[in-house]
Amino acid sequence: MPDHTNSTFIVHVPTRLLFGAGQLENLHRETMPGRKAMIVISNGKSTRANGYLDRLTGQLEKTGVEYAVFDRVEPNPLKSTVNAGGRFAREHGCDFIIALGGGSCMDAAKSMALMAVNSGDYWDYIPSGTRKGRPVANRPLPLVAITTTAGTGSEADAGTVVTNEEAHEKTGFVHPDLFPALSIVDPGLMLTVPPLFTAFQGFDALFHSVEGYVSNGTNLMSDMYALTAMEHISRYLPRAVADGSDLEARTHVAFGNTLSGYVMCVGRCTSEHSLEHALSAYHQVLPHGAGLIMISKAYFTHLIERHVADERFVRMAQAMGMPDAAAPMDFFTMLDRLQTACGVSGLCMSDYGITPEEFGKMAANARETMGFLFQCDRVELSLEDCVSIYRESYR
Ligand SMILES: [Zn+2]
Repeated sequence: MPDHTNSTFIVHVPTRLLFGAGQLENLHRETMPGRKAMIVISNGKSTRANGYLDRLTGQLEKTGVEYAVFDRVEPNPLKSTVNAGGRFAREHGCDFIIALGGGSCMDAAKSMALMAVNSGDYWDYIPSGTRKGRPVANRPLPLVAITTTAGTGSEADAGTVVTNEEAHEKTGFVHPDLFPALSIVDPGLMLTVPPLFTAFQGFDALFHSVEGYVSNGTNLMSDMYALTAMEHISRYLPRAVADGSDLEARTHVAFGNTLSGYVMCVGRCTSEHSLEHALSAYHQVLPHGAGLIMISKAYFTHLIERHVADERFVRMAQAMGMPDAAAPMDFFTMLDRLQTACGVSGLCMSDYGITPEEFGKMAANARETMGFLFQCDRVELSLEDCVSIYRESYR
């Protein structure tokens, strides 16, 4: 057993979740939470080209539910898109929302569910950064989340991450009414994700569990979810990257991702996520998972060198496939091996336009906009620590 962990925790994950290949075809058997859906998809071509949208609308037609399609969600969704989505729902008389896509779609849809029935600007409700923290007066519209990726765990939690493009703030918002009423995790919808994005998303899922396992909010329940998630993701992600059509590998990675979503409900992430959000807040082209991969080795080495959780790093190395792991740095070895196996060990910040001159500004942004995750660290990270983690990660 690793070191002591909390035996006090709260489990509140009120989402009905259908898991497994082919589950999308069972949607029509479910009770829909409204009569007219706003279907939220990305601004790319894949949701239509892969036939996913037709399959969804076919299911809805069987249930007699009407729908309108909002197809303007960009990667790293913007506040302006969320505000536009809220207006769209009102104008079309939609009384619930269906997200069909990856983390960006699900998160944007959650925020739109809020804006569909609440006035003003989305950022009025954000409780961090240049926030106003206005109370949510009206209960957000119910949400059905159909995930086509294995990355953010958004189908299992009540959080949403949106970027305020004017203020360069990318931050999370959690509200108990943002749990999806129904989620479908159908690995059959993930077979078309390209290798690089499979890796980015898989590492995002992995880090939700890794962070959860070394945060100061660990508990018996989140530990169980996190270790199992790490086992499944570490073992199967390289296969899913190498052969996207490997349904068995996709299924296990999707399972790990959903468990990592539960980790975020029962436990908490750490400042690695704050540091990444600052990178993509200034460079919208940077995928969230890629940013996490870039800073992960320096970030976790920083924690290991400060001995924040020696036994926990050993236990994670074991879960990731080194049964005889004995030293905290064995975790680093396994992380490096997994990144190499997935073809993402050489990612360069410079390829995304990031320059070292920005690190002071980004470190301050991370601490201001996403300061709440710094409070979940087992050791305090100073501004200088953040800058040096960025510097060591720079290529
Ligand atoms: Zn994440």
